[in-house]
Amino acid sequence: MPEYETYDAIVVGGGISGLLSALTLGKKGNKILLLEKTNVLGGNCRTYEPPDYPGWRVDTGVHAITDIIYGPLVQLKHYFGPGKFPTFRRHNDYYLRKKTGLEKFPSTFPGFLKMHTIPAKDRMILAGDLLNTILSRAIFGVKEKAVYDVISKHRLSKKAMQFVDALSYLLSGLSMEKTSVSRFLEGCGFSSCGKRGTMRRIAETAKLFNNSGYRWQGYPLGGIQSITDGVVTSFPKNVEYHTGEEVRKIEKEENGFCVSTSQADYRSCKVVYSGEVKKLPGIIEMPVEWSRQVKELEQATAMTIWLGLEKPMNEFNYNGSEVFCDVCDSDKEMFYWLMPVPELAPRHKGLVGVSTIIDPKKCRDSEEKLLNTIYSLVPALEKNTEMVHTQVMAPEKAAVSLKFFPSIKTPVNGLYVVGTDTDMRSMGITRAGYSVIELLNHYEEN
Ligand SMILES: Cc1cc2nc3c(=O)[nH]c(=O)nc-3n(C[C@H](O)[C@H](O)[C@H](O)COP(=O)(O)OP(=O)(O)OC[C@H]3O[C@@H](n4cnc5c(N)ncnc54)[C@H](O)[C@@H]3O)c2cc1C
Repeated sequence: MPEYETYDAIVVGGGISGLLSALTLGKKGNKILLLEKTNVLGGNCRTYEPPDYPGWRVDTGVHAITDIIYGPLVQLKHYFGPGKFPTFRRHNDYYLRKKTGLEKFPSTFPGFLKMHTIPAKDRMILAGDLLNTILSRAIFGVKEKAVYDVISKHRLSKKAMQFVDALSYLLSGLSMEKTSVSRFLEGCGFSSCGKRGTMRRIAETAKLFNNSGYRWQGYPLGGIQSITDGVVTSFPKNVEYHTGEEVRKIEKEENGFCVSTSQADYRSCKVVYSGEVKKLPGIIEMPVEWSRQVKELEQATAMTIWLGLEKPMNEFNYNGSEVFCDVCDSDKEMFYWLMPVPELAPRHKGLVGVSTIIDPKKCRDSEEKLLNTIYSLVPALEKNTEMVHTQVMAPEKAAVSLKFFPSIKTPVNGLYVVGTDTDMRSMGITRAGYSVIELLNHYEEN
C-alpha cells in the first residue's frame, strides 16, 4: 500500500489555465489532482452575484475574449464534452465616446487617418510611425521595442503623447515606455499573434487596409463563468479536484514531487503550477537566477465598476464596447473601457461594466473619478442606476512588458508553469489558453 495517494500530475491552482491543464492532460489519460486554495474554481474567470444585490450577476472584470475564431480556446474545443463548449456572441466594434456621441475606433489605416480624437497633424505623424513600424517588422523581422521608442515623440503634441500612453495602459496595463510594440499592434488589430515567416508578415501588412475590425472577439453567453463551467463539467473521471486547499510546499524527490497542503501530502510524477510564477520560489526551491528574473515581472491593477440599470438605455444599445478617452487628464486613468452586458442583467433591466487601470494606493479616488466621468458623459445614467458593484483585481498575473517572461518548462525537470505570466500572446483567457497549448507541446518531453 502506498503511503500517499499518487498522481501522474498535480495541477496547482484552479483558474482557467489550471482547469484547462487538468482537462487536457486528464483527457490524455493522466491521473490528475487539481488543488485550488479558494473555495471556488475559476480564479479570475467567474460570474457571481454581488453581495447585497440578489438577482444581479457580474463577471470578474469586463471581458471580450480575443481570437475566438482560430485562437487557443477553439483549438482546445475537442477536449470539451458534447455541448459543453461555450457559445460566443460576436463583439463587433469598439467606439470612442465623445460629448457628441460615439465614433468608431479605427481598425484600419485609412480609418485611423479619419479619427477626430487627436489633431490632424498628430494623426499624420502617428500614421507615418505606424506604417514605418509595420513595414520594418514585415521586412526585417520582429525585434521587440517599446511603443515609446517607435513614435516621433519630438514632433507630437502633448495630447497625442497622452493618447498613445493611455492606449498602452488599456492594452497592456503599462505605460508606453514599457509596452511592447507587438502587444500594441495586436491589441489594435493591426497584427496577429504567433510565429510567422517573412511572406506571412508582408501579407499581414494588407490588414492595415482591409482589417475586418474586432469581429474575432466575442463574449460567452451566460457570462465568463460558462467557460469555467464548460471545462469543469467536461472533466473525465480520472481528474479529481479539491477546493479550499492551498499548496504551501513542493519538494522535488527522486521520482517526482511531494506536494504539501495544510490538509495532506500528495505525490506526483509532474507538477503544473498555475498560481503567480513570482511566488513559486516561495513554495519550491528554484535556481537563484530564475527566481531573481521572475521577481521582476510587473503586474497592473484594474478597477471595474458594474452599474445595474433600472431600465435598458438606448445609449448602450450596441454590440461591442466603448472607450472614453480624456486626453486632458494627466493620470493614467484617462482611458476607460465600457461594455454593456445585457445578458447578465435581470429581466427588463440593463448592465454595463467599466474598467480602467489604477494606482492601487488611490483606490477610493479612482472609484470616485471613474463614476464621475461616466455620469458626466452619459448624464441619464446616474438616475437610472440601481446597483453599483466595484472590483479591484490584477487582470493578468504579469503585464506584457519588454522584460523576461518565463517559459512553460521550468529549470526543474517535470515542473511546468502555465497562465497569463508564462505566454506573451494575446491577452487574459486567450493568453492562458496559449500557455496550455504550449504545455501540451512540452509535457511529454523529458
Ligand atoms: C478587469 C479585468 C478585465 C479583464 N478583461 C479580459 C478580457 O477582456 N479578455 C480576457 O481574455 N481576459 C480578461 N481578463 C483576464 C482574465 O480573466 C485572466 O487573465 C484569466 O482568467 C487568468 O487566468 P489564470 O488561470 O492565468 O489565473 P487566475 O485566474 O489568477 O488563477 C490562478 C488560480 O490559482 C490559485 N492559486 C494560486 N496560488 C495557489 C496555491 N499556492 N495553491 C492553490 N491554489 C493557488 C488562485 O486562487 C487562482 O484561482 C480581465 C481581468 C480583469 C480583472
